[in-house]
Amino acid sequence: MAIRLAVPNEIVPGERRIALEPGVAQRLIKMGVEISMEKDAAISSHFSDEQFEGVKIVDSVDELYKNADMIFKVAPPTLEELDKMNDGTVVVGYMAPHLNAEMMNKMNEKKITSFSMELVPRITRAQSMDALSSQAAIAGYKGVLMGADLASVFFPMLTTAAGTIRPAKVVIIGAGVAGLQAIATAKRLGAIVEAYDVRSATKEQCESLGAKFIDTGVAADGEGGYARELTDDEKQQQRDVLAKHIAMADVVVSTAAIPGRPSPKIIDEAMVKDMKVGSVIVDLAAEGGGNCVLSQPGETVDHEGRVTIHAPLNVPSQVPIHASEMYSKNLFNLISPFILVDEDQNDAKLVFDWEDDVISKCVLTHEGEIKAEMYK
Ligand code: NAD
Repeated sequence: MAIRLAVPNEIVPGERRIALEPGVAQRLIKMGVEISMEKDAAISSHFSDEQFEGVKIVDSVDELYKNADMIFKVAPPTLEELDKMNDGTVVVGYMAPHLNAEMMNKMNEKKITSFSMELVPRITRAQSMDALSSQAAIAGYKGVLMGADLASVFFPMLTTAAGTIRPAKVVIIGAGVAGLQAIATAKRLGAIVEAYDVRSATKEQCESLGAKFIDTGVAADGEGGYARELTDDEKQQQRDVLAKHIAMADVVVSTAAIPGRPSPKIIDEAMVKDMKVGSVIVDLAAEGGGNCVLSQPGETVDHEGRVTIHAPLNVPSQVPIHASEMYSKNLFNLISPFILVDEDQNDAKLVFDWEDDVISKCVLTHEGEIKAEMYK
């Protein structure tokens, strides 16, 4: 019997991505996977049902889930969605497992095999499966465009009949995946870019993209290539140096994050007060509370008529076509090695190799057992 894959409409307000795009659907169909999709599920990502050739379009989500062995999702399944799924279904998507204990219990009760895209390990072999990276790159790019849009100045230097326009100064805080893409985007737009991160390896990466690295003298390399939290002294030292650079900036794009912790507060009120009139902060760390103390996640704040503080949520969703394409390929690259195709019978079945160091790290629940380390 073929694998029956189902893709529902994403129900979280504002979520415009879809977990399957037409090209990946074709690749799965060629492998013998039968695909059903909820009617108009991909409309918000600008893919029509007609583009999904060979995919069965289903009117109701109840029917969709009733006939599924595997479900691809973007946002974590709600309890109501889980109720509709068959026992033993495989569910793959973002799961935010640390925030969703009830979801975990329900998936476990229903013997669902669940995989969390957030837990795909950041190893070289898994780069093509790494949704955190693919979506962070989109956020970095789009964050700079938002900054350029809100700015009161041009980004590039312009020589015009009305005089020469100086290029904008852009400061990028946090030079992980989003930050590096933000540097590259701001450079392409012609800005003068400075960048800062607490991990020592980032200096060379920032410079190779054409940014000047801000050296605060603080190095806080943590485990697994991530940053660690700063001590109070380090925070003060970082603040003193950064404040001078932020005061000169037209646009600040901040992306700093520490895994499993709220976003570090890097820009305080006094730093905002010293910023140029008309300057902009785009706080891409808003999902974790923000890097600026004045950020209001999901809002754009006009601080005292001087500084615009923009703290958007779910930025990748604002580039829905490419975000869906990249996310969908991440899911395909994670799952397809475990689709075993029997050519004679034109049959496909899912056989997971639990010794595999990617799949074994991102599985949350399987056969009535909670596998996620954080729940042990
Ligand atoms: P992230 O989203 O967790 O954090 C963004 C950046 O914020 C990081 O560079 C971090 O160092 C920085 N940061 C944290 N606290 C800060 C502070 N107080 N001030 C300034 N900056 C601060 O990171 P990410 O983009 O997901 O990447 C994290 C790491 O994973 C990097 O080392 C990256 O190279 C690595 N990575 C590896 C792979 C792979 O090999 N497959 C894929 C993606 C990322």
